[in-house]
Amino acid sequence: MKKQIVIIGAGQAGLSLGRTLQKSGKDFLILEKNPSIGDNWRKRFDSLVLFTPARYSALPDLEMALPPKSQPTKNQIADYFERYAAHFELPIYLNHAVESLTKEGNGFAIKTAHGEIFAEQVVVASGFCERPAIPSWAADLSIPYIHSASYKSPVSVKGKKVLVVGTGNSAAQIAAELTKYYDVTWSVNRKPNFAPLYIFGRSVLWFADKLGLMDKSLSEKKRKKGEQIYLFGDLKQKLKQTKRKTKIVSASGALVIDTKGKQEVFDFVVFATGFLPNYDFIQIPGFENNLDQLRAQEGFSLVEGLYFLGIPHQRTRSSTLIFGAQKDAIHLAKHL
Ligand SMILES: Cc1cc2nc3c(=O)[nH]c(=O)nc-3n(C[C@H](O)[C@H](O)[C@H](O)COP(=O)(O)OP(=O)(O)OC[C@H]3O[C@@H](n4cnc5c(N)ncnc54)[C@H](O)[C@@H]3O)c2cc1C
Repeated sequence: MKKQIVIIGAGQAGLSLGRTLQKSGKDFLILEKNPSIGDNWRKRFDSLVLFTPARYSALPDLEMALPPKSQPTKNQIADYFERYAAHFELPIYLNHAVESLTKEGNGFAIKTAHGEIFAEQVVVASGFCERPAIPSWAADLSIPYIHSASYKSPVSVKGKKVLVVGTGNSAAQIAAELTKYYDVTWSVNRKPNFAPLYIFGRSVLWFADKLGLMDKSLSEKKRKKGEQIYLFGDLKQKLKQTKRKTKIVSASGALVIDTKGKQEVFDFVVFATGFLPNYDFIQIPGFENNLDQLRAQEGFSLVEGLYFLGIPHQRTRSSTLIFGAQKDAIHLAKHL
């Protein structure tokens, strides 16, 4: 089969681009490895509620069918994405994991278990959460541990004393919900960057949008400061019940040692330490497997005809979010 454009991945980035290309009558196909759209959201932890209200979580041209100010649950966003693909009859091949992407003449050969597809241009929208990132000292632990990618609910945890590692929203939310059942210590590698989610009853994203901040890029200094942890519901109160620890630098058996040299024994560790993308399937000489470089090039790779969508901060501070990824998709579509 031959296509002008193949998009790899039917998450928010792939769906947004698909809809944009559909409107301009392009010949394209989306390949998705999961059996249903939205599965990557469904797999996330049970209590996950989006910090972006429904108004900022919808994709182009179709409302979420939720009150605009409400915060969708992870299953609601998954179901909405599934409805979105069906509503616009987007050409998506499910259960089509891309095994390799190689150069073929002026275009590309994309191999899946179902055969090969040829494309003039390829957009990699396979997400940045494909590989859970775990600190190297985890290898020296003898106690059980999991990454937030496999954490579902407090039932996922064993023992009494739990260490939650990470300085983002997932770490904060997981640490907070575990306080009801466990003795929780929260280890952070820097001062958490807390921000209230609501000011005068309005989401901070509404203010950021109205002030045009969502479309601005973030300086490297601010990016390195790390993501903001949005405080809503009883998150702040519950986090007060956790014990705080600085960055862990090493471990041995059940014992961990932090940057202050303090040693402590735990029963279980939850790593909410982020993710890395997986571009191993790209087997093209000259492909720069370097997120910073791809970001600097706004997702336009050095390989002609090969593009990326969904890289954190690809163009703006909201590129990571549903709201911003669709703007990046519209920008990219102009070049396809
Ligand atoms: C815990 C958590 C909470 C978040 N909360 C919010 C929020 O409240 N609001 C918000 O706007 N954003 C939020 N985000 C950020 C962001 O919206 C998501 O990470 C989003 O899933 C990224 O979209 P994407 O389309 O780039 O990638 P993904 O959603 O990861 O989609 C990529 C798709 O590509 C598929 N794929 C991967 N490899 C292949 C392959 N080789 N072949 C075929 N298909 C492949 C995957 O199965 C997946 O369906 C959150 C992220 C996390 C981790």
